[in-house]
Amino acid sequence: MKRILLTMLAVVVLLVGVAGGLVGSAFVGLQPATDGPVAPGVQLVRDGYVNAFLIDLDDGVALIDCGNDPEAKSLLAALKDRGLEIASVKAIFLTHGHRDHLGGCRQFPSAAVFAFEGDRGLVEGTKAANGPLPRLAGIDASAAVKVTSALTDGATVSFGSVGVTAWNIPGHTEGSAAFLARGVLFLGDSAAGQSDGAIRPAPWVFSDDVGRCRASLMGLATRAPMQTVAQLAFSHSGWLAGGSALTTFH
Ligand SMILES: [Zn+2]
Repeated sequence: MKRILLTMLAVVVLLVGVAGGLVGSAFVGLQPATDGPVAPGVQLVRDGYVNAFLIDLDDGVALIDCGNDPEAKSLLAALKDRGLEIASVKAIFLTHGHRDHLGGCRQFPSAAVFAFEGDRGLVEGTKAANGPLPRLAGIDASAAVKVTSALTDGATVSFGSVGVTAWNIPGHTEGSAAFLARGVLFLGDSAAGQSDGAIRPAPWVFSDDVGRCRASLMGLATRAPMQTVAQLAFSHSGWLAGGSALTTFH
């Protein structure tokens, strides 16, 4: 009996170790992310291990994702620092529907919520994620929020003088998005910036289909106006200067 228990314990320890190693390796060698400006009118707000971004509009701000924290403490503090309030957030652009990018969205009830149709079920809490690890969590409606505006591939949403262009880059999730605003190309979880200046695609344990994610990134490099890209920004790493890490990605 004791031997069986010890064997079971060893198997559990091994499985936890392997799972921990897989998750940990996803973060090794990444460019560190810190709060602050990414470009004129674009601010990174770190929320634990995930980034959200404030994009200045003529009147108020738009968010790229809402962080992991249901109380959105980091985002609310960043708004307060700038003399802005909850109602100043006019729009939320979701890079995809994983829980750690939706966490704080409910704190901004007057904002329009933009996402691609492919991730509507994830965002609204009616569908489970497909990646090997996210799948284990099943349907998670704890941060569900209504998509008020479905995005169109390649189209620009304009707020006065500021435009946000969206591309659907399926792979990490079906409705994964890239956004270009104020010269910054936001890639969400579809890619991460490494400290050596290269990018790598989303880790497979968190993704629907990494091969598709890679192909989408290479396609994006031919579809987006890369000559206008001053920075690449990511959800779990620091940003990279210029767009060449994407145009040379293969
Ligand atoms: Zn994700």
